[in-house]
Amino acid sequence: MISLYNPLKFWRINSSHFHTTIVNLFIMYCPNFTYNSNCIILSWSMGEKMTLEFICWDVQHGSASYIKTPNGKQIVYDFGTGSYQENSSVFSPLLHLKNNYGVNSLDFAIVSHPHKDHIDDILNFDKLSPTTFLRPRHLERSEILNNVKDTDKPLFEKYFEINDRYNQSVPEGTSTLLAKNNGGVEFQTFIPSNCSQSNINNHSVVVSISYANSKILLTGDNEAPSWKELLEDPQFIEAIRDTDILLAPHHGRDSGFYSDLFKYFNPRLTIISDSDVCDTSATDRYRAVTKGWTIHHRKGGDETRYCVTTRNDGPIKVSLGIREDDKKPFISVSID
Ligand SMILES: [Zn+2]
Repeated sequence: MISLYNPLKFWRINSSHFHTTIVNLFIMYCPNFTYNSNCIILSWSMGEKMTLEFICWDVQHGSASYIKTPNGKQIVYDFGTGSYQENSSVFSPLLHLKNNYGVNSLDFAIVSHPHKDHIDDILNFDKLSPTTFLRPRHLERSEILNNVKDTDKPLFEKYFEINDRYNQSVPEGTSTLLAKNNGGVEFQTFIPSNCSQSNINNHSVVVSISYANSKILLTGDNEAPSWKELLEDPQFIEAIRDTDILLAPHHGRDSGFYSDLFKYFNPRLTIISDSDVCDTSATDRYRAVTKGWTIHHRKGGDETRYCVTTRNDGPIKVSLGIREDDKKPFISVSID
């Protein structure tokens, strides 16, 4: 039975107010999705190309993704750092966005779960002053700090400071994730909360992004217990159905592979964000459930691929939308 107080529902009901969908049954306060009252909601910027841009950065062993909606909303999912390409352990996707993409502020920031490899860039968080912030807010400080090295504590202190500061619920109708506010892109987010909190991987925010008949699924470090929990929710199943691009759970490792997910979709392409030392890689298992897609090499040439990895392919860049000439959906993927 689905509890009325399942935090997974809280967020969706409060944040998105899907008036046109079946989830708009109750209005209630949501503890996970909050905004900083000092920020203002940015207005629609006209004249943008009608495509959704998605980048999974090469952040070595870590995770960091960027989403730009067709109307220019700027969203970051996870805050890993480092780069094989630049042979740097300090490459910051946030500073790269600011300095090279002209991104001065974020509309929405998501930490899938507060593990170091997902928050390394958090010290730069305020340089892009996100309007709203989503994280698994039900986790206790002591659970988050379990096994954290002293040298990494400043990252976590910053995370806690932000967590405390983003404490206002999002005003009705203003959510960045509402399709009407972000150029028609539908975001759905889910936060598993019933598994043991000794492994906070199983509390990772999952985001489904739908636009122009295509779908991207961001999965954090969820492992089998939380996938089982999420698949008990029919709304979750609908949200993941027919996913085209999968960001593999837990860096593409065996512990995150959950075969029941693939009853509901077979992605065209699976993206794996991990370091080159990975002895439990499930890449072959993902290859077996992935349909394959033609990807473009930025230096020239096309190739059919099933899995792409940030360790070998650099930043994975995805554009999707509706083609201007024949009005058909397209998904374009480029790698190094
Ligand atoms: Zn991780």
